[in-house]
Amino acid sequence: MLVLNLNYVPLNICTVRRAVVLVGKGKAELMENHRGEIRTVTSVIDVPSIIRLVYMVKKPFLPRKLSKKEVFLRDRFTCQYCGKKTQDLTLDHVIPRRQHGSHTWENVVAACNRCNLHKAGRTPVEANMVLHKEPRAPDPNPYLILQNRTILEEWLPYIPWTVRG
Ligand SMILES: [Zn+2]
Repeated sequence: MLVLNLNYVPLNICTVRRAVVLVGKGKAELMENHRGEIRTVTSVIDVPSIIRLVYMVKKPFLPRKLSKKEVFLRDRFTCQYCGKKTQDLTLDHVIPRRQHGSHTWENVVAACNRCNLHKAGRTPVEANMVLHKEPRAPDPNPYLILQNRTILEEWLPYIPWTVRG
């Protein structure tokens, strides 16, 4: 079930049981019911579909994990040296590892095979190559929690159309 932060931004997805407990304890309010009911020993409760926390959870978003795929996505599958868009990419350390370049968002870019071969363990200055733009960490995406999840119709008003697909 969709859990919204106090400011209505989706926070996570939880089980029906957990949602009922949060509402029951007064930690969240019910925003929307889903189809159906749950029977407990003492009562019949509507199945919640969306709940909203009554307090603000700060910094709930995990920073994006550094991986080859994430770097290629950030760089839009474009070689950061020659600007060619290709699926044939490698992960390039701007300051090479053997020159103690770090394995961080700020020191890795997508590079095509050709540029990678040409650069060959040198810094861009040594290889006389120019980066298209300064690499940096991508913004943490608050809607990442919804990736590969079934999104219920009643959740849509709380989700920007750009992340629905
Ligand atoms: Zn290239």
